[in-house]
Amino acid sequence: MIRIPLLLALGLATMTASAQDARTALVIHGGAGVIERRALSVEDERAVRRDLDRALDAGNRVLKRGGSALDAVTASIGVLEESPWFNAGKGAVFNAAGGHELDASIMEGHTRRAGAVAGLSTVRSPIRLARAVMEHSPHVMMAGAGAEAFADTRSEIARVRPDWFDTDRRRDQLEQARKREKAGQAALSTTYFGTVGAVALDQQGHIAAATSTGGMTNKRYGRVGDAPIIGAGNWADDRCGVSGTGWGEFYIRAAVAHDICARVAYRGDTLAVAADAVVNGEVVKLGGDGGAIALDRDGNIAMPFNTSGMYRGWIKPDGSRGTAVFRDEG
Ligand code: ASP
Repeated sequence: MIRIPLLLALGLATMTASAQDARTALVIHGGAGVIERRALSVEDERAVRRDLDRALDAGNRVLKRGGSALDAVTASIGVLEESPWFNAGKGAVFNAAGGHELDASIMEGHTRRAGAVAGLSTVRSPIRLARAVMEHSPHVMMAGAGAEAFADTRSEIARVRPDWFDTDRRRDQLEQARKREKAGQAALSTTYFGTVGAVALDQQGHIAAATSTGGMTNKRYGRVGDAPIIGAGNWADDRCGVSGTGWGEFYIRAAVAHDICARVAYRGDTLAVAADAVVNGEVVKLGGDGGAIALDRDGNIAMPFNTSGMYRGWIKPDGSRGTAVFRDEG
C-alpha cells in the first residue's frame, strides 16, 4: 500500500531532476551591418535590446517546459517579426518598387525537415508560413503568388495588407538608397541589414534554426536572398544549427550555413573555428559581409560577424544570458 506512492514520488523526483539537468540553449540575431554607437540613440538601443530579450524569453519558455527546439525558434522569431526594429515582418525594408517581399525558412536538425517561403507581401508572420510549408505540404519552398495561395488554404496564417509592414524609418532608408543610386553609387543598400534568426537546442538534444527577413533595401526583379535558401542563410542537422545575416548574394555563393555545419561534421572543427572560418574567411574572400549565429549539440554558441555590429542575444546551457550590439561587447 505504501510502496506505490513512494515509488511514484521517487519517479516524479527523478523526472523533475532530469528535466532540470537537461541542457538547453538559445541564440538569436537581429541582423548584422553598419551599427555604430554614435548613430544609435540610447533610447533606440534600449528598445532594440528589450525586444531581443523578449524574443529570448519567448523561446526559452518553450525550452524550459520541455518543448521542441522547433517551437522555440518559431516563438523567438515570432516576437522579432512583430517588432518594428528589425527587418522582418513589421519593419521590413522596402524594395525598389516601394513594397515589401518577405523571405523566411525553418529547419529541424534531427529530421532534416525544412520549409521556406520567398517574396511574400501579405503574410504577417513569414516564419509561420515557412513552417506550414514544412508541416502541411510535400514541398520545401514556395514563392510569390503560389506561396500566398498556399497561405489562403491555412486558416492559422494571419494576413495583413501589404502596407502593414511599412515604417517611416525603412522608408527613409529607401529614399537614401535611391539618392545614392542617382548619384551613381551602389543601388542595393548594404548598410542596414536587420534580418532576424534563432537557433535552439532542446531538452531532447535536438536543434532547429529559423531565419526571416525583408531582404535588402531597394532590391528588385523578384530578388531572393539567402534567408529562405536552405544551406545558405539557414541550416540545422543533428549536431549543428546556423542562421545567417548579411549580403545575401554572397551567403548563397558561399553556402554559409551549411558550410559551417559541414566543417563541424566532416572535419571535426569546433563550432567557433568553423563559424569564424566561414564568416570571416570565405564570405570576406568573395567580397561579402555579414554575420551568423551558430549552436552545436553540446550547447556551444558562436556569433561571428565582420561588420561593425550585429544585434544578438543568447541563453547558454548554464542559464547565463545576454544581449549585445557592438563589436566590443559580449
Ligand atoms: N541576408 C539578407 C538578404 O540578403 C539581408 C540581411 O541579412 O539583413 O536578404
